[in-house]
Amino acid sequence: MNLKKLIRDVPDFPKAGIIFKDITPLLINPKGFKSAINQMAKMNWKLSPIHKIVAMESRGFIFGAALALKLGAGFVPVRKKGKLPYKTIREEYQLEYGTDILEMHEDAIVKDENVLIVDDVLATGGTAKAVCSLIEKLGGHVAGLCFLIELSFLNPQEKLKGYEISSLIKY
Ligand code: AMP
Repeated sequence: MNLKKLIRDVPDFPKAGIIFKDITPLLINPKGFKSAINQMAKMNWKLSPIHKIVAMESRGFIFGAALALKLGAGFVPVRKKGKLPYKTIREEYQLEYGTDILEMHEDAIVKDENVLIVDDVLATGGTAKAVCSLIEKLGGHVAGLCFLIELSFLNPQEKLKGYEISSLIKY
């Protein structure tokens, strides 16, 4: 199944110059969504079993939760500052202009668990790198990073050297 056909380019969203990769045509297509999750579930990672799936808000939750059920892994949400109710650990990361903060519950991962990171789009890799740091702060091992879409022209692999990355669709 050609998943690329189910991704819609929306120019100048959320601001001028950005071509937003809209995944909603894939999500409303039952065969497309199922195929994406099945392909993610078939990937082989250097560490197994996968104990936890960590996904970042908000579109990462859609793929991460479905994949966690399929792999029999726990699901861990990573959220922007101030959204999680319990005690958190945090990581500041660089944006195009300024910085932002991501948080995860401090009991979300137990030392030596194997963790897979899932998101819809890998762009510069800044977000994913911050999530790797959160997992490692709690003693987890990053088994790999799994994306629906990778914007290879932004060279995110450079920022994530040493980590195993798999993406279903590349631009
Ligand atoms: P980055 O930290 O640059 O890798 O950005 C990754 C996050 O921003 C992901 O959670 C994506 O959902 C979102 N993102 C970045 N660029 C795009 C884009 N062109 N289309 C859709 N989402 C994007």
